[in-house]
Amino acid sequence: MTIDEDTGEDVVCPICGAAEYWDCGHLVGSFDRSFCECQGGAIYDRQGEFSSIIEDIFLSHLQNGSEPGLKYDAFPELWESAKCNYAPDDDYVDLDGDILQRFLIEVLENAGAHEGPGSLIDPGGPGMTSSMSLLFAECPSEVVARALDRISVALKNELQDAPPYVDHILLWDRDPVVRTSDGRWFIDGQNGWWQTEITEITFSMNPGWFYDTKDPEGWKKCLHSESDIAEVERLVAKKDADR
Ligand SMILES: [Zn+2]
Repeated sequence: MTIDEDTGEDVVCPICGAAEYWDCGHLVGSFDRSFCECQGGAIYDRQGEFSSIIEDIFLSHLQNGSEPGLKYDAFPELWESAKCNYAPDDDYVDLDGDILQRFLIEVLENAGAHEGPGSLIDPGGPGMTSSMSLLFAECPSEVVARALDRISVALKNELQDAPPYVDHILLWDRDPVVRTSDGRWFIDGQNGWWQTEITEITFSMNPGWFYDTKDPEGWKKCLHSESDIAEVERLVAKKDADR
């Protein structure tokens, strides 16, 4: 049971006044700040989505070296900790649970949730008093959907600002095929480089990707000549022209 430490009174829903605030349909999230847990509310079942969005887009940022800068207080810390925990070649991102919780609360507030007033604590058992945050809204599911949407769009927008680069190269009957970080493919044909669509990588193409995150320029070694490299760089830089 969560109470206001200053008044000693039980918390009620600030929207409808219900004593059973977890059951009145206005709870966006109930967060145990001491134990870094979400205990209920509309965000409860969608927490995984929230962290997946951030993990996936952070990974893209880390792989292409772009630096997202969202205007939330907890964001710089969240990004720095993800960056510190990331090693080249990792295909996952580690997020610090405590910072992630602070960020989630901020994102929910930004999307329209209001924090319940007072210094909230959950006395729990002996020696287990937790500091609590309760977020409320008229329509919690809308707030949660808006929060997930906003954060996904904001992070992806930052990603698009990063210039494209060659992220993989493979050989197809000894001809180099280049994939760019923004998902375009170029193939070296008889009449020079052209943009193509590749929907499936088959064994006839090559036994592996010629790309090494430790040596991002290494793909150049797979091309025949300086002019090939220059042509690929020109095509890659032409981000949207050929879409
Ligand atoms: Zn209510």
